Amino acid sequence: MVDNSVKGKTAVYGVIGCPIEHTFSPAIHNTMAKTLNKDMIYEAFRVEKDNLESAIKGAYSLGIKGLNVTVPHKVEVMKCLCDIDKRAKVIGAVNTLKYTENGYVGYNTDIIGVYYAIKNKGFDVKGKTVLLLGAGGAGNACGVMAADKGAKMLYIANRTVSKADKLAESIRAEYPEIKTLSIDDIYDIPNVDIVLNATVIGFGENKGLSPIKDTGFYKNKGVEMVFDAIYSPWETQLLKDCRKEGITGINGFDMLVYQAVAAEEIWFDEEIDPQLTEKARKELSDFYRENN
Ligand code: NAP
Repeated sequence: MVDNSVKGKTAVYGVIGCPIEHTFSPAIHNTMAKTLNKDMIYEAFRVEKDNLESAIKGAYSLGIKGLNVTVPHKVEVMKCLCDIDKRAKVIGAVNTLKYTENGYVGYNTDIIGVYYAIKNKGFDVKGKTVLLLGAGGAGNACGVMAADKGAKMLYIANRTVSKADKLAESIRAEYPEIKTLSIDDIYDIPNVDIVLNATVIGFGENKGLSPIKDTGFYKNKGVEMVFDAIYSPWETQLLKDCRKEGITGINGFDMLVYQAVAAEEIWFDEEIDPQLTEKARKELSDFYRENN
């Protein structure tokens, strides 16, 4: 049967990273393309660290309209861009590139991703005491989101406290209510409404572990909700512990979908109908759970 779906004018998008074989981004974007009836395809490209600059130049020459950027390129790629969005500069990392006539412009849509992952489950950081665990790429996005969206108090706890200090420094000018601490000292915090986990504890070789070792923490501190940026495994030890304590836990899958939708809004320069997003999110989530 002839497949005439990809034509000369079909727009090409993609994700670069290394490794990249595990990525779910093509499934998300190609599903969204069908949902939105866009003439586009989205591919995954494995790009080694040493080839990053030539890959970006090549992608631009080929007219690739937009790229997502994942580990390990989110910081280094900033050197290859003609401009960087203000929020991405504060985070210090870029996950979305948009083709313009001067070169690629960089954005970070992880802030929007984590915000809607929480909000669409009925939670908001506004006026709350937030404990952020982690100060890497995802941690920076979660921290800037908490500050932007009006958290009353933000604790940033990280294994390496200097990285938490660096993140605090970048947002303190606009948002002074921040304290940094070692992840081992979180038990000394008087009260916490919302926990955001952006460490790798619970993922990969750390599967089965939780960054909060004392499960009495949730009741003692008055925790309402815990968000874990991890979505593989679907329910981390952290989220299992919350469930046992009767506390709402949200995993990172919706963050993944919403950051992708936010990237498409930048690429297409249009707002995507939330009902279409919700339909695609549900299909993708059901598929992912069945197949992982
Ligand atoms: P990253 O930049 O490498 O940061 C890793 C974080 O984990 C750092 O805060 C690091 O602390 C901490 N960490 C590493 N090993 C630790 C240990 N043994 N004990 C305590 N803390 C430890 O990684 P990232 O890109 O931010 O990703 C973090 C997590 O978020 C990953 O699990 C990733 O899968 C997830 N994520 C999810 C989404 C999504 O859309 N749902 C998007 C991005 C990332 P140090 O600073 O001390 O090293």
